[in-house]
Amino acid sequence: MSFNSLSDRALPERIKTLISLSQRFGPVFPTYGVIPTPNNSWKCECRKGVACEHPGKHPRITRWNTAATTNEKQIADWCIEFPHANWAIVAGWLIDIVDLDAKPGKPNGVLAMEAWEAIHGRISTLRVASGTGIHLYHTAGSGLPESSNDRLGIDARADKSGYVMAPGSRHQNGRIYQIIEENELSACPAWLTAELYQNQPDTASVSIHCIHSKERGGGFRGEPAEAGAIPSPAYVESPVRRVSDHHAGRPTRDGGNPD
Ligand SMILES: [Zn+2]
Repeated sequence: MSFNSLSDRALPERIKTLISLSQRFGPVFPTYGVIPTPNNSWKCECRKGVACEHPGKHPRITRWNTAATTNEKQIADWCIEFPHANWAIVAGWLIDIVDLDAKPGKPNGVLAMEAWEAIHGRISTLRVASGTGIHLYHTAGSGLPESSNDRLGIDARADKSGYVMAPGSRHQNGRIYQIIEENELSACPAWLTAELYQNQPDTASVSIHCIHSKERGGGFRGEPAEAGAIPSPAYVESPVRRVSDHHAGRPTRDGGNPD
């Protein structure tokens, strides 16, 4: 594949790409990147190296949520100062992100979304392959609260209090975040907000919990800006329950990681 990481690109192209990303998706800032190891894997470029808890994902700068910028000069300065950096986009300015994760042995958010979309119709919006799943980019202000849900394998990044790794960043597993569906951004549909927040927690424990990835490898932890527990209103019958009951006990082999 010809796609390369931001840090692989020549400085002028890297600067140009990041300015374009910031204009399209919102303020950006550098995080630590990952660098190759002698045994063909990747480690965080910070002092902790292979022991880093958030390899390639923790901020290179202090006060990222106020320092993140669309300013061309600042972006260029950071590109020069941090040549191996990965890059993050702050959620909630221009985009809200639904982060579907497919970690080995954990609830598979990618499959959960496939089940929901089979019922509600496929969402037309921009999709990015992440290190171990998929990011759906939606227009900001679509009602998603910043949240994590380990039982679903789905996080939401919004409210200017979270961030996602930008396309062109490299995950510790070597994969490069990249746009896989280049659509116009759409608002997060009401049915998805309902599935994520109004149908919890029972839907997750009863039905989605049986959908696990069989992929190996990883060690991926979600985006570093973790959030508190989601609200848990009363249980509402969910269409997903019917779908996942149908598949209970025989998770599919594919449909996990996008690449
Ligand atoms: Zn690190």
